[in-house]
Amino acid sequence: MINKKNLKIILNIVLIVSIMVLLAFIYSRKLSNEEIVKKDILEDLYNDVVPYEFAYLNLYTIYGNHLNVNGVLNNKDNLEVKNMKIILKDYEEKSIEYDLNYDFNDNKYNFYLSKNINEGIDLEKIENGKYFVLLKVEYSLNDELIDKIYTIKNNSDYSQNEYHTMTKNMENKKIEIFFREYNKDNKNLNYMQIKVLSENLPENVYDIVIDPGHGGKDPGAMYDGKRESDLTLEYSILLKQKLEEIGYKVKLTRTKDEYVESYGKNARATTPYETKAKLVLSIHLNSTEKINPQGGVEIYASNDANLDFAKSFADNIVNYTGTGYSPNNISKALDGVYVRTYTEEEIKEAIEYANELEYTPYETLSVKTPYLFMIRETGGIMTHAYVDGRNKYIDSNPYYNSNQSAEAYLLELGFINSENDINNLLKNKNLYINAIVDSIKNHYTNY
Ligand SMILES: [Zn+2]
Repeated sequence: MINKKNLKIILNIVLIVSIMVLLAFIYSRKLSNEEIVKKDILEDLYNDVVPYEFAYLNLYTIYGNHLNVNGVLNNKDNLEVKNMKIILKDYEEKSIEYDLNYDFNDNKYNFYLSKNINEGIDLEKIENGKYFVLLKVEYSLNDELIDKIYTIKNNSDYSQNEYHTMTKNMENKKIEIFFREYNKDNKNLNYMQIKVLSENLPENVYDIVIDPGHGGKDPGAMYDGKRESDLTLEYSILLKQKLEEIGYKVKLTRTKDEYVESYGKNARATTPYETKAKLVLSIHLNSTEKINPQGGVEIYASNDANLDFAKSFADNIVNYTGTGYSPNNISKALDGVYVRTYTEEEIKEAIEYANELEYTPYETLSVKTPYLFMIRETGGIMTHAYVDGRNKYIDSNPYYNSNQSAEAYLLELGFINSENDINNLLKNKNLYINAIVDSIKNHYTNY
């Protein structure tokens, strides 16, 4: 029996179903429109590029906020190349060009954006759009300069990546990097794309990770009743607050006096990957066996990085706090900047240690491998991370083979056993913090 109440329910159901059908119809129309546009664009792209030939991408990496590519073009046509560029082209006539380095070898052109892992395409600076990543080759033929454009086919172990930009004015973009194939009427295209759109930062994604060195059963350096682990925590909490005040989303690897594992879940080296952070700063205090009256700052970076950012931390800290550059000359790259890699002796020891514990020594260990695990293991293949689980006595780094990571620096703010440094560090906390914050602010707006 249909009474008034039942009728109302039925009418409501009819209304909801009709709205759903209408929405589904609108959505499908929208989809098919997009598909039509896409096919037109792919036809345009097909007409722009050299048919049946591709440039091959052997590796692409994202370190911090830079995308780097490394690829090869077979020189079938005996081209005399004058210039090679990566172009990002979306078919609304937006096009960005990046100069490539290249060398000629075995009848092939090998191309790459930069030898430095923190250089290449700045992902923070790309406007919203859907871009094809293309190789543009300028070559000379009968005294004329001619362009050829190739799509890029993936030959690397990595099929796709997702990047979230640093928070700026409470806004973020999501960047997807992927590869597709198009086959129609005997036409075949393999291409690389970068899609950039505004999107809120997912809850588990952060801009910056701060790692307060040591903690819990590991107090770090100690002097005159002071513990490194207490000071690094205090500085890190202050640093987080100041960075949040200027809009960044920041995560600490520890928030209290506790021991944090190096590898595994929520660990020091893995948190930057898990949070897709763009920058990780490990905060430490230095110490020496003998009392060190002078003191000074030491900033550690990857040996494969452009050291400008590291240098700005060192310079700012010296200028703001009146401390000096550390007098230590071992592993020194610039005043206040250090790149600590394995020595021959340490490699020998690592091999002996592996033999003793009966695992195969790490093949990738060399004098170019960063020694500090917070630089090495946070940077995936870019910084030669190697803790892959073969040593059963330590947890593994599940991201050792990643092609995407944060840019890492380890900051030794001063010496705990230097009167100069410790007085300065306790009295002028805010100057140290401001120096670091300004360095970050400047880096992500001005470089
Ligand atoms: Zn330390």
